[in-house]
Amino acid sequence: MNDFDDRQMLIELASVIDRLEIVLSGLQQPLALSANDSSAGRLSSHWHRIFTGNQVAANAVDTSRQQQLASELTQQLERLRNEHVRMRHIKQLSEKKLQHASTQLQQSGFSPPEAAELLTLLTQGQFNHQHHGQLLQLLDHYQAALASSITHHAHSHDHQHELCTRLLQLIDELHFSGPVATELAKLRHQLQQRVEKTELPSVCLKLIDLTIEGCRFERKNATRFLTNLNAHLEEVHRHFAITLSEGQSIVDARTHHGHHIAGELRAIGEHLFSQSNVQLTADIELRMRSINHILVQHERLQEREHALLQRMSEMDQQIHTLKAEAENFKLQLNAQNDKLFIDSLTQIHNRAGMDQRLDLEYRQWLRYEKPLCIALLDVDYFKEINDKYGHLAGDKALRLIAKTMQQSLRETDFVARFGGEEFMVLLSNTDQKDIEKPLQKLCDRIKNIPFRFKEEPVTITISLGATLLKQGDSIQSALERADQALYRAKHAGRDQIVMD
Ligand code: GH3
Ligand code: MG
Ligand code: MG
Repeated sequence: MNDFDDRQMLIELASVIDRLEIVLSGLQQPLALSANDSSAGRLSSHWHRIFTGNQVAANAVDTSRQQQLASELTQQLERLRNEHVRMRHIKQLSEKKLQHASTQLQQSGFSPPEAAELLTLLTQGQFNHQHHGQLLQLLDHYQAALASSITHHAHSHDHQHELCTRLLQLIDELHFSGPVATELAKLRHQLQQRVEKTELPSVCLKLIDLTIEGCRFERKNATRFLTNLNAHLEEVHRHFAITLSEGQSIVDARTHHGHHIAGELRAIGEHLFSQSNVQLTADIELRMRSINHILVQHERLQEREHALLQRMSEMDQQIHTLKAEAENFKLQLNAQNDKLFIDSLTQIHNRAGMDQRLDLEYRQWLRYEKPLCIALLDVDYFKEINDKYGHLAGDKALRLIAKTMQQSLRETDFVARFGGEEFMVLLSNTDQKDIEKPLQKLCDRIKNIPFRFKEEPVTITISLGATLLKQGDSIQSALERADQALYRAKHAGRDQIVMD
């Protein structure tokens, strides 16, 4: 499983809830009618319209609508159940993968005792499948950190630097709130300072620990909601089915009684003409007793109708609660979904957001052949900013640069941070001759940001490599060309644009 499937699951779940809302509001319509009905104590007129055979045209439509709603509700319940099964399956798969990774790690003989507890936790599957990819990466990093901490390799410094950068990127991809977020920020700060290579494994372990803690919380929330939603829906569905069949049987009984009374009255009329007075009185008495009996039954029927209305109004309450809960969860899901594509430091799109948009723009480019420009940007000498003014100043600079980029471009253009101090811009629908202007404006605006660090005015510049998609390009080939252009801009002295 990968991140895409996880996102799919969230999207799917949101759409199930959407559709449920449609079904539920359909179910509410007849109830709304009943509330306005003045003939209280009797089964309200809409149920007559729905079920009696008198108003043929209207009834035929309403009855089939009720049945359609019932069948849609059943379908949605089935989808929710499948979603449960799917989540369980994904969890099992992830557990298997993690088990494999941790066994490998244990066999490598590197694991210090402090790792043992975490590994047990991992193999028990106490994590959210949504983050299992990140956890697997963390395990890889952990293994690499251990290897690096026990070697005295000439390249181990570079290696350590790369590991720190990758761990920082991973932290930026995690979106947790509360105490976990505070701990992550601390770890981020620690990684930005110098971390001794012997400390790296324990930083990795801490990060794994925090990821699991954050996931556990998220997972608990989602599972609790799904279980509640399912239970609620089952209840609504059960009530709905009972109400439907009870309504039908009451109406059948009423029709039957109607025929019966009509029959009795017809019989009385016929007797009036054909019988002598004595016989007539006896016959009428007999008929009246029969009619009385029917009327008693009729009263009982009214009591059943009353109970039915009661149940319908309970159902109305349940539907209201359910809708409010579903709406709330949908908002949460959407927010979670959006977060997957947002970089936590700069609040612009991250690498996942960039991949998604690139894919979309590329497909449109193939289809409509409208020009598409990819630009890669890298902040010049950014390490110096960190070294001279500290990493917090560096972070602040990155946030401001990202904001300036967004403000400098059109709304239809796209900006993403895809790592460290590197950004990507997509300009769609801009001809070759019009491309340099917005890119130059972007560079100028960044150069003109009035940074002040430690009371010193500081100018930050960027280098930019850009390319237009050409016949036969893949996303990869265009990205490589832009990267080459950026490389040339750096080597030609930085603070400039190179177009390829
Ligand atoms: P160049 O002009 O060749 O691009 O030089 P540079 O110093 O910008 O390039 P280099 O790749 O050597 O250094 C990039 C620096 O960016 C190193 C790293 O500490 C810093 N960096 C990466 N991510 C972050 C971050 O999230 N916050 C901060 N403050 N610094 C970061
Ligand atoms: Mg760089
Ligand atoms: Mg740089």
